[in-house]
Amino acid sequence: MKRVPADKKFLEQVEVIDIAEEGKGVGKADELVIFIEKAVPGDVVDIEIIRKKKNFAEAKIKNLVKPSEFRTQAFCPHFGVCGGCKWQHMTYEAQLRFKQKIVLDALQRLGKVDVSQASSILGSFEKRYYRNKLEFTFSSKRWLTDEDIRSNEPMEPNALGFHIPLRFDKILNIETCYLQTDPSNEIRNQLRDFTIQNGISFYDLRNHEGALRNLIIRTSTTGEVMVIVVFAYASEDEIKLIMAFLKERFPQITSLLYIINHKKNDTIFDQEIITYAGRNFIYEEMEDLRFKIGPKSFYQTNSLQAYELYKIVRDYAGLTGTELVYDLYTGTGTIATFVAKKAKHVIGVEYIPSAIEDAKVNAEINNITNTTYYAGDMKDVLTPEFVEAHGKPDVIITDPPRAGMHPDVVKRLLEIEAQKMVYVSCNAATQARDIAMLSEKYEVKKIQPVDMFPHTQHVENVVLLTLKN
Ligand code: SAH
Repeated sequence: MKRVPADKKFLEQVEVIDIAEEGKGVGKADELVIFIEKAVPGDVVDIEIIRKKKNFAEAKIKNLVKPSEFRTQAFCPHFGVCGGCKWQHMTYEAQLRFKQKIVLDALQRLGKVDVSQASSILGSFEKRYYRNKLEFTFSSKRWLTDEDIRSNEPMEPNALGFHIPLRFDKILNIETCYLQTDPSNEIRNQLRDFTIQNGISFYDLRNHEGALRNLIIRTSTTGEVMVIVVFAYASEDEIKLIMAFLKERFPQITSLLYIINHKKNDTIFDQEIITYAGRNFIYEEMEDLRFKIGPKSFYQTNSLQAYELYKIVRDYAGLTGTELVYDLYTGTGTIATFVAKKAKHVIGVEYIPSAIEDAKVNAEINNITNTTYYAGDMKDVLTPEFVEAHGKPDVIITDPPRAGMHPDVVKRLLEIEAQKMVYVSCNAATQARDIAMLSEKYEVKKIQPVDMFPHTQHVENVVLLTLKN
């Protein structure tokens, strides 16, 4: 077959045949695999190649010749420019179908798993306003959309919104975001208007100057609202003015906090948090449990769907009240807390010490006395001595970050030989890689993909593994 010539930039009538893990459409021209931005399987498109590598190319659509049956009108005005919600141009049914496929393809291809028994993906009940946390960035360098440029009108250079993909210094001004419930949009927009009217400077991400830096909003199903304003070089008067404005205009805010951050990076984990009004935490509830969430605490961002996920985990663990359970990568101990009543004892292990502190508080406020937590890197904590000291687990629940488990941790799991293992993952490829290693002693019994993030390419997956006889 002939290859696409190196100088050929435009291709016509390319059929989009699949979706790739990062969410781009996949087309083929002769032998060349082409990843096409915003293309949906079933589309026929004329494309422009924007990057060409040895084995593949990247392209964007020049002309949509025939739209796929899976296409729909994106509902957000920022779609296509904003880095979030990249799949809004696909029907929700199609999104679910492709997420299922991404998970099963990875398990099959990289994990050599028989996926014929996999359950259908569990869709999210809430398809909009499902996030409980958003972080916006103030910038004096607003990203101008094509529309802005065409309008030829003078533009307000300050923006409060989200980063443009691959541009650290440019911020897309957000007017409406469909990810977080009220009063998130109102707070962001009114704070922006107020600060611009009062001439308070927005941060310059290149030169590190300016008063206002970030705005973090956390909401909860209990109705509580936490707002954290991150200042850079603001005067005391400016801080007072802004915080008083928020307090007065938004009585719904139950936790109003601020931070003064002079560092080069945005992380708040090493920063002092100042309480301006209300409490310095909010509560989230799940079943009959309460979780205390501080400004630095991790909590699953789609609360309702996290509950569905945890129920699957609990069901797969099949606890009767007599088991010793290890909850690895426990974060703030949410899963450990959730399954504790059905277990004899749960041991949670997690990297971040402050998360472990949160986990202990959550045990206390829920009167749970059969959980113990340890902080440290998994590969250092989970030693034969640890297992010797705390007992061999009947069930291991593991929920690692996107990178999956360190090979040493997988080796340790093979030595421990727990009867059951429930593996929760947000990255099917690394989960499949780890399962391939575990297959020496374990077999896959159940597979349940879960959609926590509608309109994005992200997908969660729960796998039940049992020890082979
Ligand atoms: N199970 C929790 C959170 C899972 S997120 C929940 O459902 O809420 C993954 C967690 O793994 C994070 O809290 C992260 O801090 C932790 N982590 C990442 N690398 C780690 C490592 N090497 N050792 C221990 N914990 C780690």
